[in-house]
Amino acid sequence: MASAADKSGAGTANGSGELDALIIGAGFSGLYQLHCLRDKLGLRAKVLETADGVGGTWYWNRYPGARCDSESHSYCYGFSEMLAKEWEFSERYPQQPEILRYLNFVADRLDLKKDIRFKTKVVKAQYDAAVNRWHVTTEAGERLTTKFLITAVGCLSTANVPKIPGLESFKGQWYHTGLWPHEGVDFRGKRVAQIGTGSTGIQAVPVIAETAQHLTVFQRTANYSVPAHNAPLTPEFKKYVKDNFKEIRRIMNGTPNGHPFVIEDRSVFDVSDEERERIYEAAWAKGGLQFRAGFRDILLNKKANDTAAEFLKNKIRKAVKDPKTAEILANIDHPYAAKRPPIDSFYFEAFNRDNVSLVDVRSDPIEAITPEGILLRSGKVHEADIIVFATGFDAMTGAFLRMDIRGRDGLTLAKAWEAGPRNYLGLQVAGFPNMFTITGPGSPSVLCNMPVPIEQHVEWITACIDHMRKNGVDTIETTPEAVDGWVAHVNEAANATLLPEAHHSWYLGANVPGKPRVFMPYAGGMARYRQICDDVAAKGYEGFVMT
Ligand code: NAP
Repeated sequence: MASAADKSGAGTANGSGELDALIIGAGFSGLYQLHCLRDKLGLRAKVLETADGVGGTWYWNRYPGARCDSESHSYCYGFSEMLAKEWEFSERYPQQPEILRYLNFVADRLDLKKDIRFKTKVVKAQYDAAVNRWHVTTEAGERLTTKFLITAVGCLSTANVPKIPGLESFKGQWYHTGLWPHEGVDFRGKRVAQIGTGSTGIQAVPVIAETAQHLTVFQRTANYSVPAHNAPLTPEFKKYVKDNFKEIRRIMNGTPNGHPFVIEDRSVFDVSDEERERIYEAAWAKGGLQFRAGFRDILLNKKANDTAAEFLKNKIRKAVKDPKTAEILANIDHPYAAKRPPIDSFYFEAFNRDNVSLVDVRSDPIEAITPEGILLRSGKVHEADIIVFATGFDAMTGAFLRMDIRGRDGLTLAKAWEAGPRNYLGLQVAGFPNMFTITGPGSPSVLCNMPVPIEQHVEWITACIDHMRKNGVDTIETTPEAVDGWVAHVNEAANATLLPEAHHSWYLGANVPGKPRVFMPYAGGMARYRQICDDVAAKGYEGFVMT
């Protein structure tokens, strides 16, 4: 696409004039968006990335035990059969280094890195209505100008280190799992305190326990977990994946959550108690997120959910030998899968080790961090040499709001979202023309196997920009009415499920003090969402104004 402003002298990533599209972030989304805009539409597109390599989430999250909870044959791009045939994952659930290698393989195979500026952090983006362009400023003070601004910043990329008084006085080392040192951490001979028992904490505990002198786990909210039963992939399975590429994608694209399994169309109450138990046992033996798929109403009906919840709590009681510890771990206060359900490799079993202990900080909260360790409200101090914060993220909005993004008339995104994220389809915010948000709040994103919603968003945005070019359209901007309608629909979709019942969930922003309590992802299912987006496009981009 030729740009009239080529001679404007505005800086670009390669210093050659203005950009058609600037993409923020070089994870799964940014890489594919660059490929689509540059190689399919022929646009001048660049990616700016804070890190010194590609990978996004998988660049930063290098904590012990980090691996994906989606099965490897589904946790990859589906847009290219060539890529799928050339790459082979080694295990049922890919480990962080292997996913990072995969993303580097994709970036190299598609020759993407030459259009990615690494070690370049975006701090500000300002829309200029007079020229219909975005001016983007980096931390180093450089200014770039672009027609389209596309955020590919990830949903879980802003580490949440709780503001516990006294952290600065701690004599040992502390780390957040999402900003883990590349050289690793040596736990040998160390007393380790780990705060947090979400998906990350549950993965980290058994691995840290292997080398730490002692590991004390601080649990605020007890959590369910289903065994991953991770294992190397057999040659037969690898062949099945290659031979059935299209069929596996067809299943993934047809399900509510983008995983390669179908949710059974039966109610928990369609079967006898014995049959239900048999189904749960079989799902437990199979392991993984598929545990949710045995019945259609687990996340819709509290009584149905109770049967799964009780089954899982009993598994904890059986796995953990000390009855007091088992009861703290099984004292779960929310429906199963109302918070993102973790899967694990011997998490509960780790509490049977002599060097692992559990502290219930729901009954005795953390009061402060002292030079020696962690002080509880009761006055008890747990001494530690290393503190691991497995305390999650300022999810879905944090990565946006740490940048200063200003739309029409200087409206800041922080102001537009002061009562929680508001947008249309999770794709665009009113007052922010030509800005697209890949897997933004209000889209299925984190409720799915991420590559599926990412590909759908990237392809929709690409088709939209192509449509604009072909029809001589310069600006696309959603309307406040479309936003109102979509926000209402997102709420309605969440309220039709048990998801909002987990009051302390990061889906609701509840893990970050002061953050508005709004259910952020779209819970209506990926297949339904895809249809809505396709219909919007088919109706001439209904809900958007194109000028
Ligand atoms: P998380 O689910 O938000 O869990 C954070 C944990 O830290 C919770 O147990 C939380 O307790 C606790 N916590 C936070 N602040 C605390 C405080 N001040 N005092 C005591 N405890 C505190 O974060 P996460 O485990 O990093 O996972 C986030 C998401 O990332 C997951 O849900 C998942 O979507 C994704 N993830 C995926 C994978 C994978 O695919 N393998 C792995 C890891 C993460 P409360 O529950 O009481 O707030």
